[in-house]
Amino acid sequence: MKALDELTFDNRFARLGDAFSTHVLPEPLDEPRLVVASKAAMALLDLDPAAAETSVFAELFGGHKLWAEAEPRAMVYSGHQFGGYTPQLGDGRGLLLGEVYNEAGEHWDLHLKGAGMTPYSRMGDGRAVLRSSIREFLASEALHALGIPTSRALCVIGSSTPVWREKQERGAMVLRLAHSHIRFGHFEYFYYTKKPEQQAELAEHVLNLHYPECREQPEPYLAMFREIVERNAEMIAKWQAYGFCHGVMNTDNMSILGITFDFGPFAFLDDFDAHFICNHSDHEGRYSFSNQVPIGQWNLSALAQALTPFISVDALKEALGLYLPLYQAHYLDLMRRRLGLTTAEDADQQLVERLLKLMQNSGVDYTLFLRHLGDEPAALAVARLRDDFVDLAGFDAWAEQYKARVARDGDYTQEQRRERMHAVNPLYILRNYLAQNAIAAAESGDYSEVRRLHDVLTRPFEEQAGMEQYAQRPPDWGKHLEISCSS
Ligand code: AMP
Ligand code: MG
Repeated sequence: MKALDELTFDNRFARLGDAFSTHVLPEPLDEPRLVVASKAAMALLDLDPAAAETSVFAELFGGHKLWAEAEPRAMVYSGHQFGGYTPQLGDGRGLLLGEVYNEAGEHWDLHLKGAGMTPYSRMGDGRAVLRSSIREFLASEALHALGIPTSRALCVIGSSTPVWREKQERGAMVLRLAHSHIRFGHFEYFYYTKKPEQQAELAEHVLNLHYPECREQPEPYLAMFREIVERNAEMIAKWQAYGFCHGVMNTDNMSILGITFDFGPFAFLDDFDAHFICNHSDHEGRYSFSNQVPIGQWNLSALAQALTPFISVDALKEALGLYLPLYQAHYLDLMRRRLGLTTAEDADQQLVERLLKLMQNSGVDYTLFLRHLGDEPAALAVARLRDDFVDLAGFDAWAEQYKARVARDGDYTQEQRRERMHAVNPLYILRNYLAQNAIAAAESGDYSEVRRLHDVLTRPFEEQAGMEQYAQRPPDWGKHLEISCSS
């Protein structure tokens, strides 16, 4: 266990120099205070959880203090936003404070979001508001608990600093952890600005630090790209299987590590809706729930284009071709498990699709349906869940098919079935309205709801006594909340 001043830094990205990032000091928030901290994320840095309660914690992550070994840098990158190329983006309000390594030898980037203006702030104020910082914190930790690869969040620090969005709000900072903050857009930046030397340096950096096993392959860069394709296919399969909608899948928000990254107007589905659009400025539905799958491939193609100096076009195309089949395999595997199946049959895909269509037509709660499907033996469970459907004949036909499929699947007790299904079907997810309630309380100075919700979401598969209110369908007001993208 370490105290805050015992962190050990090794700032590998900063050492790449000024072509990659710019030295910028954080701009402190007024009256910084702890809103919430993740003990699990603190453990990644070997930090003593008691450290979160100290005033120096809020000062460090509120931009007032800095470790002597930290080297705060704003990274430069670019990216495709809603399909169009933006030649220069970069950390407009976030700073990579440094890289810390823990006792297990893992490096973690400490990234402070909302840390003030940088050379890449463009028209922005460099700030993040409390609302969006809480959302990023809760989502990071909730996705992690569901087993979905993601950046992590150490804490949110609130303040009295006024920040203007549609109305006056308060500034906050969220401390994000990831093994790297390098995005697809980093490669695009050096490709489109025609800086081959820096691009090669970046590629070497990523290969050496994050994909060292690819060094052993005959074509290390190709092996690395393939691995990135595979990780993205798996990540997006998990988003789809758990009903997570990212909302802003621009290539500057896609991590080179294949982790969920840069949380904005994201949402988990309440009612199943393949066409759901969580970002209300996404008028075309480019990033709608079901479009996440082809957009994942589109984004990988944009990365592939930026890697053409290192890898032949044919090889890149072949690697891109792995994406859809891998996605399908991961998705189907997870959905089978969510349905409680332990074996594979060809018709399983159709079984899943038919169920989703029925849920879509009846507005059935996606998470709760699958959770309750495991509560009781299949025949009893479907009989109880039937009432949620409008097309009863359609549901009955599906239920017959499902029961027959379960009977063929294997011989196990209901206890085994429930245990297995509940281990993959969460009872608690980060519903928008739950986040909204916690944010409203936090905005009036009461952080207890954010902390409680965070705590519930760290054990999403475990029924928790006294927490029934977090496992309900949303009230009507909470179903179609418009989440502001101004964050
Ligand atoms: P995002 O949509 O949050 O991924 O941000 C897209 C780009 O805008 C990134 O380069 C951000 O750093 C930048 N940005 C977003 N909000 C702000 C802000 N309030 N101040 C400065 N830059 C921002
Ligand atoms: Mg971003």
